[in-house]
Amino acid sequence: MLQKTSHFMRQANLINGEWVQADSGQTVDVNNPATGLKIGTVPKSGKVETRRAIEAADAAFQTWRKTTALERSKLLRKLHDAMMDNQDVLAELLTIEQGKSLFESKGEIGSAASYILWFAEEGRRTYGDVVPSPWADRRILVTKEPVGVIAAITPWNFPSSMLARKLGPALAAGCTAVVKPASQTPYSGLAWGALAEEVGFPKGVINILTGAAGEIGDEICANPLVKKITFTGSTEVGKILIQKSSVTVKKVSMELGGNAPFLVFDDADIERAVAGAITAKYRNSGQTCVCTNRFLVQAGVYDKFVEKLAAASNELKVGSGLDDGVQQGPLIDEKAVEKVEELIADATAKGGKVVAGGKRHALGGSFFQPTVIADATPKMRFMKEEIFGPVAPVFKFETEEEAVALANDTEFGLACYFYTGDLGRAFRVMEGLKYGMVGVNEGLITTPEAPFGGVKESGLGKEGGHQGIEDYLDTKYVCIGGL
Ligand code: ADP
Repeated sequence: MLQKTSHFMRQANLINGEWVQADSGQTVDVNNPATGLKIGTVPKSGKVETRRAIEAADAAFQTWRKTTALERSKLLRKLHDAMMDNQDVLAELLTIEQGKSLFESKGEIGSAASYILWFAEEGRRTYGDVVPSPWADRRILVTKEPVGVIAAITPWNFPSSMLARKLGPALAAGCTAVVKPASQTPYSGLAWGALAEEVGFPKGVINILTGAAGEIGDEICANPLVKKITFTGSTEVGKILIQKSSVTVKKVSMELGGNAPFLVFDDADIERAVAGAITAKYRNSGQTCVCTNRFLVQAGVYDKFVEKLAAASNELKVGSGLDDGVQQGPLIDEKAVEKVEELIADATAKGGKVVAGGKRHALGGSFFQPTVIADATPKMRFMKEEIFGPVAPVFKFETEEEAVALANDTEFGLACYFYTGDLGRAFRVMEGLKYGMVGVNEGLITTPEAPFGGVKESGLGKEGGHQGIEDYLDTKYVCIGGL
């Protein structure tokens, strides 16, 4: 098992088909968040290596763009199969560098593979149009072409699947890619290079760099050969990338922060709502952009919901992701734990009541107890700030209008969830919520068939669905005259 894992654990960058070190020879350490121990290193690449990777991607694009959609689809299918054949070892690698439970890591690898399969299929359906012409002697054609070299920058919380949502549509559309995974979790990103090589993607089609984020990002933004940036991460960094890439007018897709509300109405099925709440809150130890940030519960069921959520939270098994039955791993690092502690201290100072957890876990390191805070109010910091940790603040509301207004009172608009047994209310609330994704009586809604993405400051563009490939295509209008 370990030997196989190390086959995918590449401590080098992939540029133009070669596994290489940084020119400076400098490296960055990678640690296991469950033990705090070093797993290995990756190159600390910067501007020069990034330029080289972009030029390799551009050279590869000249031939890759001419392959047929069917050829690309077949290679992507092989990539899907290779991932699934190695699901266990890739999951183990993911858990070692990221911390989530093996169960969740296997789920993530499966999900990553499913995005590749989906786009292997969608790539064959990037239809154009023949438009009725207003001129008797001219015809109008609309075609789709790959945008060219794309750059993908991804975060540490889903180091495999976030890349799948970008590489899948990019490669299917006929684009080539320069990828920069997060420094905390680079191996799951680099593993894509090993897999792609194994199934026969030509050199230069996928290039993967690790290292100095700012330098790599600056080169990506400034280099005119890069036609599109696709980013998943914080709103803060997303705004920097939008701003910097304006110099070369690139397409941008941004999956940024969220502040997901989870509404529970008096007429909801409470058992179902609590089960959904546990998934929507504690998945990946609360470190996902679609994790619930605020529970808003109607007065009639407030006490019952809080009591059941606290009991279910207390039952979650916390531990090393590699251990059997563990449901919640460590947080990514000490900084993440400190942020969670600050938010809890802020809430308790403003009248919040800790009814489950509230402290660092006895396991030490960056382990934290699943936490529920009752009597939350809009003055508390988690009304506005993304928690990114296992803390569930529960607010009380009286009316539907109040709940929708409270849910929308944020600059974010990624995912939201609500539970009700009333059909009319389901439609009213769904239409009233200013979010890109809505779960109605469901707490886990991500799937490749559906368009994932936010509105407001949560981002631009969609990943998944038939919409997910559009961002990687340019639309060309052709007018044929003189008929
Ligand atoms: P998170 O809070 O999830 O770590 P970040 O936005 O800081 O989110 O990081 C997401 C990705 O963006 C990571 O790969 C990180 O290295 C990268 N990143 C951070 N700063 C920059 C930057 N200035 N330019 C380009 N990429 C960056």
